[in-house]
Amino acid sequence: MVLGLTPLQPGCTPNEALRRVAWLLERGRAGSYRVQAFRRAADVIAGMPQSELASAIGSGALTDLPGLGPATAGVVTEAARGELPAYLQSLQDKAAESLAPGGEHLYQLVVGDLHSHSDWSDGGAPITEMVLAAVELGQDWLALTDHSPRLKIARGLSAARLREQLVVVDGINQSLGERFRLLRGIEVDILEDGTLDQEPALLDELDVVTASVHSKLRAPRDVMTARMLGAVRNPRVNVLGHATGQLVEGSRGQRPPSQFDAAAVFSACAETGVAVEINSRPERCDPPDELIRLAEERGCLFAINSDAHAPGQLDMKAYGCERATRLGIPADRIVTTWAADRVLEWARAGR
Ligand SMILES: [Zn+2]
Ligand SMILES: [Zn+2]
Repeated sequence: MVLGLTPLQPGCTPNEALRRVAWLLERGRAGSYRVQAFRRAADVIAGMPQSELASAIGSGALTDLPGLGPATAGVVTEAARGELPAYLQSLQDKAAESLAPGGEHLYQLVVGDLHSHSDWSDGGAPITEMVLAAVELGQDWLALTDHSPRLKIARGLSAARLREQLVVVDGINQSLGERFRLLRGIEVDILEDGTLDQEPALLDELDVVTASVHSKLRAPRDVMTARMLGAVRNPRVNVLGHATGQLVEGSRGQRPPSQFDAAAVFSACAETGVAVEINSRPERCDPPDELIRLAEERGCLFAINSDAHAPGQLDMKAYGCERATRLGIPADRIVTTWAADRVLEWARAGR
């Protein structure tokens, strides 16, 4: 199995073509308005009877439909003729290159992801869309890690909503069979006192817990160190998410890394078996290189995660792969290269 997206061929349906265009735009970090235009168009035509769609294509009246413009109508028309739409072709040609040259070998080994969001919190897509994208990428497993209650801005899940979500996740797993596994997870906030923002008994029911700091990032060094140590030493935690909280580019601007005793925190991670996340999002690029080196020296495990909030962003793990390769992190120390069963065993071991 080769990981990465298999290009669509002539003969794909208009719906497949539109969705793939959206996916590729998202992967290339196009604006969400542009991406959504293609997904909306896909939804519109999916809801139409075949005969109606055929007659709209035949009479050139596609752009009269709500949600379809010249670009989306062009893709539909060309796909309906049995051609590979030119716009899709150009995007696929671009996507033949890795997002981050240098990390290709490791990319082929990363079969899972311990950090992703759905529209249950601040993600842009339903859970099933995220799963489908991970399957199309050739991954074997994905952890769904929506936010916890205190992160209101991201519509963090209350205990009741998380319980509801777990039922949905179980249903998806039943329908997937052996081919793919959706892990029951959370990105839980590390609260100011180092405790976790979710009921302990509910955390116990999850397969994996990624814990991250999202508030008071400018706290004094000793305060932040104690806070992070509290989380890392909590036996329920498996992954330390975006350790410094830094932002290096993008629409949210820049944010300096938070200050903490990284040697102490990473030593604790190594002792407790908590994986240090290599957050692949280009605007985060977290932890910075020198801290990844330090974590490596301390003997930590790592998790190359996408932190995807939309299907196309799952491929951003390529950036994390490039960084880990450049910094010489051995693949077997990266838990997202492991099979799902091994990950589950590791995640339960510390509890
Ligand atoms: Zn986060
Ligand atoms: Zn996240």
